[in-house]
Amino acid sequence: MNHLHLSSFSTERDFRLAIIEAGRICYASGLMHANTGNISVRMGNDRIVITPSGVCKGRLEPEDLLVIDLDGVILKSDKLRRHTFSSEAPLHLEIYRRRPDVRAVMHAHPVHATALTVAGIPFPVDVLPDVLAGLGPVPTTRFTLPDAHDTAAAISEYVKDHSAILIRNHGAVAYGTDLEEALNRLEQLENTARTVLTAHLLGKVNHLPDEIMSAMREKYLRTRE
Ligand SMILES: [Zn+2]
Repeated sequence: MNHLHLSSFSTERDFRLAIIEAGRICYASGLMHANTGNISVRMGNDRIVITPSGVCKGRLEPEDLLVIDLDGVILKSDKLRRHTFSSEAPLHLEIYRRRPDVRAVMHAHPVHATALTVAGIPFPVDVLPDVLAGLGPVPTTRFTLPDAHDTAAAISEYVKDHSAILIRNHGAVAYGTDLEEALNRLEQLENTARTVLTAHLLGKVNHLPDEIMSAMREKYLRTRE
């Protein structure tokens, strides 16, 4: 059974199980090491189920998760566990407030995608042919303070027109209309970065020819009309 699939018939428990499944995948694949990263899903219009602070995403239990509103007020939490929501929740809330169509947000510190920002290399959409269709252009923010409110302010201008954003010297956010889409985008972001960095190590990065890129850009723009 694919727990990531949610619908208007899904219960709150289904939402919790979906996040746990996504957390296991992210931990097992190295996208979220130790207790880093955070995952959230929009439930209804204005409630967010989100991972707690300081808990490994590979070992979450349904009761670990919290329900908050769009202002970051906790509506539901397990009293015995005394969890608070992720300190990086402002990133998620910024995206949900600006994009009513978004129903899932993931934030991680994927090694290769983050390394691109550390090296000052813009995320390349012109190396692998499926990147523009799957991810679209991925901007990189300015440097931010170690403060989620400053990071939320830094991604703000990019949220409307993108599906994934790199946060300079920090990590990435990826989001979508469901958890599966957000996860696919996070994985594609990291996989693309890993491929490009490996090519750099081998000594040469060949970019796609202009005629292929212009055809792909046309197709990408048509899908956004
Ligand atoms: Zn972070």
